Amino acid sequence: MRAQPKASHFIDGAYVEDTAGTPFDSLYPATGEVIARLHAATPAIVAQAVAAAKRAQPEWAALSPTARGRILKKAADIMRTRNRELSELETLDTGKPIQETIVADPTSGADSFEFFGGVAAAALNGEHIPLGADFAYTRRVPIGVCVGIGAWNYPQQIACWKAAPALVSGNAMVFKPSENTPLGALKIAEILIEAGLPKGLFNVIQGDRDTGPLLVGHPDVGKVSLTGSVPTGRKVAAAAAGQLKHVTMELGGKSPLIVFEDADLDSAIGGAMLGNFYSTGQVCSNGTRVFVQKSVKDRFLSGLKARTEKIVIGDPMDEATQLGPMVSRPQRDKVLDYIETGKAEGATLVTGGAIPNDVPAEGTYIQPTVFADVTDTMTIAREEIFGPVMCVLDFDDEDEVVARANATEFGLSAGVFTSDITRAHRVVDKLEAGTLWINTYNLCPVEIPFGGSKQSGFGRENSVAALQHYTELKTVYVAMGKVEAPY
Ligand code: NAD
Repeated sequence: MRAQPKASHFIDGAYVEDTAGTPFDSLYPATGEVIARLHAATPAIVAQAVAAAKRAQPEWAALSPTARGRILKKAADIMRTRNRELSELETLDTGKPIQETIVADPTSGADSFEFFGGVAAAALNGEHIPLGADFAYTRRVPIGVCVGIGAWNYPQQIACWKAAPALVSGNAMVFKPSENTPLGALKIAEILIEAGLPKGLFNVIQGDRDTGPLLVGHPDVGKVSLTGSVPTGRKVAAAAAGQLKHVTMELGGKSPLIVFEDADLDSAIGGAMLGNFYSTGQVCSNGTRVFVQKSVKDRFLSGLKARTEKIVIGDPMDEATQLGPMVSRPQRDKVLDYIETGKAEGATLVTGGAIPNDVPAEGTYIQPTVFADVTDTMTIAREEIFGPVMCVLDFDDEDEVVARANATEFGLSAGVFTSDITRAHRVVDKLEAGTLWINTYNLCPVEIPFGGSKQSGFGRENSVAALQHYTELKTVYVAMGKVEAPY
């Protein structure tokens, strides 16, 4: 098995196995080949991981942010040096083309370690509050043991986006990757140790929806950060609320991308394609409801169709491949079902909609698909598909499109393409979303906060804002005189 790790879990600085855990296979989605066999964590493994984290955390928290940050920056350097190897592993784990993973996965994880490693020394400061003769000061203190739970679309990036702010703030973390993509996080754990992270501070345990609740419910865990679907978010938030734990929820979306008639259409088409087909459409913030003003609809669709049909589908390890398979067969089948529903509900299939020719029978490929004439009430316009399916809807004017764009329970992202600068800002002001783009789509550098509103979640990842979600504020009142008591 070509990606078999030394063992399933990484706890207290070393690989750990417990064969009593339910075995599961990790498959290469392009061929169905078994690339690793692992075991889900037993309750004993969960307890061991949380205990290691709890033991290691106080000494780590006592270091200066600069000292903690130095280790993260070293980890970033190691990740960059090993980018090719890590990207190949990410491609095996997810099926995403190497053309993408080599520029977007370990590199964005490394960016996160570098950014938080550097910013911590300046951003974890408290305030001094003058109160006349007295004063108060605040401190940002770590929460303790944090749990990270990941989705399968960006396994290494998600592990780093959670580990970096958690660790630099002085916390320890137990991370559970998605059962579909268990491998990358183990490498991140190895690299952190190599960079000098004391053992026990970043632990990885495997498992699925049965394992996650064991972590969320553990009494020694103070915070849970989940990247996953809205239904899972509701369950995890409810479980965490039972013990009043901190939570960050990075959940799903059905984001609008609005193309006005004065937009640069080539850029709008390119943005819509990136925002629907990158990572085979498995991106939470994708602009899957593409609203196009009626006067440019035909031009938009003909350009979009021509460019979509040129997308190179194939072996993800081939540098020329632009679209790989979906992460798993159930996910591919779910997307095929949505495509059938779209057709049955009367949307016009512009291109795609089927399994491509000339791909391995056990691969989980699907053509990039565009539907036009989609209406707001159709299932494909309301539910998150999480595959390469773009819905094009048309509109007449600005007020109408803003109202329709906001008519969803989700609020993760939104985008606007227009050459009218005042309209761009007016429209994004009215759109209900956490992360918005003007004249581009889906760019998420580590410097900017990322996260959702409404049912798409709360809390923010990346940027200095993320540090607030991994720390608590401690306030200290300092009296400079005698206590004046009336009794
Ligand atoms: P999922 O919700 O099925 O699973 C996410 C993770 O939660 C997995 O690790 C899973 O094992 C775990 N889990 C499931 N039930 C649990 C429970 N009851 N308690 C604790 N953990 C539990 O999501 P997925 O299919 O892996 O990922 C796709 C979803 O993730 C999409 O909805 C997508 O939009 C979302 N997503 C969001 C972001 C974001 O940043 N907002 C990023 C990537 C993906």
